[in-house]
Amino acid sequence: MSARARSLLVALGALAVLAVAALGLVLGARPLGPDEPVVRATEPPLTSTPAPTTPTPDPTEEPGPLADLHVVLDPGHNGGNAAAPAEINALVGDGRGGSKACNTVGSSTTSGYPEHAFTFDVAQRAREILVADGATVTLTREDDTGVGPCVDERGQAAQTAGADVLVSIHADGAADPAVRGYFAIVSEPPLNDAQAEPSRALAADLLAALGAAGFAPSSSYPGALSERADLGTLNWAERPAVLLELAEMRNPGEAALIESEEGRRRYAEAVAAGIREWAAGS
Ligand code: ZN
Repeated sequence: MSARARSLLVALGALAVLAVAALGLVLGARPLGPDEPVVRATEPPLTSTPAPTTPTPDPTEEPGPLADLHVVLDPGHNGGNAAAPAEINALVGDGRGGSKACNTVGSSTTSGYPEHAFTFDVAQRAREILVADGATVTLTREDDTGVGPCVDERGQAAQTAGADVLVSIHADGAADPAVRGYFAIVSEPPLNDAQAEPSRALAADLLAALGAAGFAPSSSYPGALSERADLGTLNWAERPAVLLELAEMRNPGEAALIESEEGRRRYAEAVAAGIREWAAGS
């Protein structure tokens, strides 16, 4: 073998060793574990706080049963109404071509617990329950201070928010302490299709839920249903809408429920249950 041939063989051998070594590196490379970050050389170093990202829904979490439902809850009145007579007495359209006061002060229990605090507390609790089921819930007011929207704005809140349904939460203030019980009010005569049968179906589900929760139906209104033409909150609605009078604030037994956290929790659960039932059937 010539010297030239020998050096060629040596060179080939060296190449083969290199090739085997390279193959070994590739085959022997440990795959990245699931928790190990892939570091790219082109990635810039993190020198500042990353921009906040919107939370993405957990894909392992099932959407709630009410994921397609958007509810507007209207806690009646507001905490600052009594101190703002000019504002709440200002006239707004009543939805039937007439006019009426923007809002009213509302009622209170004999010991002074106000309707606006009751409605706001129950609405917040009902919202929490419905949101846990996946629903979107809009409140017509987000606090219990100052004056809230006028009744015309509250009545339009469901269509304004693109919601499916409007439930306005109140408690009645009949002067006679013997008068008791929940009732629902619907617009009569209805001004559009939503105020007709769909609102009555909603009222029926809410009343059934209040009854199932053990509350007493109204001693004043047969079937616990009242029909009225003068409520702006109902007249302006273009979605199924009901105004609920959950209790009589001057009735001692119901005042005790209203004033207790447990009572308000039960009212909120019944309201949520009625809406859930309505959503299942509509
Ligand atoms: Zn009221």
